[in-house]
Amino acid sequence: MSEAVHASAPATALPATAPPPATVAFPGDPAYDEATRVYNLAGPARPAAAVTATSAAEVQAAIGYAAARGQGVRVHTTGHSAGAAPEMTGAVLIRPVLRGGVEIDVGRRRAHIPAGTPWNEVVHAAAPHGLAAPHGTSGTVGAVGYLLHGGVSLYGRKVGLAANHVTAIELVTAEGRLRRVSLTQDPELFWALRGGGGGLGVVTAVELALFPAADLVTGAAFWSWTHAAAVVEAWYDWTLRAPEEVSTSLRVMNLPDLPMIPPMLKGGPVVCVAGVALGAAHARELLAPLRAVGEPVLDTWQDAGPETVPEVHMDPDEPGTFIGDHFLLSELGRDGIAAFLRTTGTGSGTGTSTGTGTGTGSDSPLIVAELRQLGGRMAVADPSGGALNHFEERFAYMGAGVPELRGTPAEIIEHCDRMRAALAPWDTGRTAPGFVKGLDRPRGHLSEADILAVERVRARVDPEGLFRGDAMPETVASALAAHSQEQS
Ligand SMILES: Cc1cc2nc3c(=O)[nH]c(=O)nc-3n(C[C@H](O)[C@H](O)[C@H](O)COP(=O)(O)OP(=O)(O)OC[C@H]3O[C@@H](n4cnc5c(N)ncnc54)[C@H](O)[C@@H]3O)c2cc1C
Repeated sequence: MSEAVHASAPATALPATAPPPATVAFPGDPAYDEATRVYNLAGPARPAAAVTATSAAEVQAAIGYAAARGQGVRVHTTGHSAGAAPEMTGAVLIRPVLRGGVEIDVGRRRAHIPAGTPWNEVVHAAAPHGLAAPHGTSGTVGAVGYLLHGGVSLYGRKVGLAANHVTAIELVTAEGRLRRVSLTQDPELFWALRGGGGGLGVVTAVELALFPAADLVTGAAFWSWTHAAAVVEAWYDWTLRAPEEVSTSLRVMNLPDLPMIPPMLKGGPVVCVAGVALGAAHARELLAPLRAVGEPVLDTWQDAGPETVPEVHMDPDEPGTFIGDHFLLSELGRDGIAAFLRTTGTGSGTGTSTGTGTGTGSDSPLIVAELRQLGGRMAVADPSGGALNHFEERFAYMGAGVPELRGTPAEIIEHCDRMRAALAPWDTGRTAPGFVKGLDRPRGHLSEADILAVERVRARVDPEGLFRGDAMPETVASALAAHSQEQS
């Protein structure tokens, strides 16, 4: 990262009457459509103006344009989180897609990642050097947006929360200054950026620590519904003694009849265990008891390089309307696991000696209901980490439906609520910010003290609240409530 980044002068504020920079596009312009495109069509982006910025200077010009007109600034890249983003009415949306590509410093095991880069590009740049990055299940998710939200990685139990691997962040702040922050350069802002709820500036690049990923085994195994209860029990028992070298998800999937879906996964719910093992022996320990339950209908677990990992979860790459829910769970026990499985469907089910009764899955409009394993290094607080640097919870629950494929939005939400009620005894009330699916869904990941600490940073770097619309609504609401209590 160049010294110039430290020393960059603030952008000159434009007079309110000055013509907009050429990059600013308005509704009706194809460049506006391009800049406002979102992955999750449940949250369409309709700002007053939109900019695709390909350099820090273009970001600065866009901020200057918005500031001069008293308009708020919003930021997105892929729109994967669009369903949970507040409306953008009246704002200027900046979509930073910076030029330059991913640079790998092999000796220092560092990646320099320009904003707008999807994880696939980071993974493919690092893999030839035997290095891996702490990405999640989808290669099309933007690396910067994911990292600012903490990042629950497919390597997470071994390497901890992804944001803890960020070693520096370059951003343009509200005053239009291009800055680099790190543990030694404005550590408070660096802390707040990593999981603090957003709305602190436009990040133009991150520097990320990579790690070696030798002896890697990864994949997904799917079983027919007949084996669901036994697979889920075997997986859950394994989680109680799982080594941190293995990170997995368990999903009940009720997939639509689409050409890209393998035929054996259609026609009814399947249960899937997917993930990453760093060590063949660890993979065998996970997979042997599962495979003993019954023959998977599809099993892609194999020795592989890190470039394979973003494919294994088979997350959809194409935009769609994704409506769902998420919350973090404490230790589920057999009762919790049974409640999860039962509520993925409501049929009479098969049941087992241990009470893990299963429904047929057929009544649920959800395409997927997932338990993501947490724990391992993800449960260990990192003293040099950001505002969000670990999770004490045991599992993240996610469920989602797609009204174009099954169920109305109301039916999907109703089923989400049913799942929420079924898992209420284990719901910790906390969420992982990146997984929150809707604006109306309960959420929260910071303590009141941390919210206030983030607000103090915000007041310093953005006193006029230019970026406030981009901050997660619950952090803003809590900060305002705490502030008014302090005043009274
Ligand atoms: C299919 C799918 C799979 C996923 N898998 C995982 C997973 O395994 N683990 C996990 O932790 N999360 C996962 N997520 C959640 C994902 O990490 C979040 O949705 C994340 O916010 C996406 O970032 P983005 O930039 O792609 O999205 P966007 O919607 O473009 O951005 C989300 C928010 O990030 C902020 N932001 C983005 N770029 C910038 C920038 N340059 N400067 C300042 N702010 C910025 C903005 O506040 C913006 O509103 C997944 C999401 C999907 C849809």
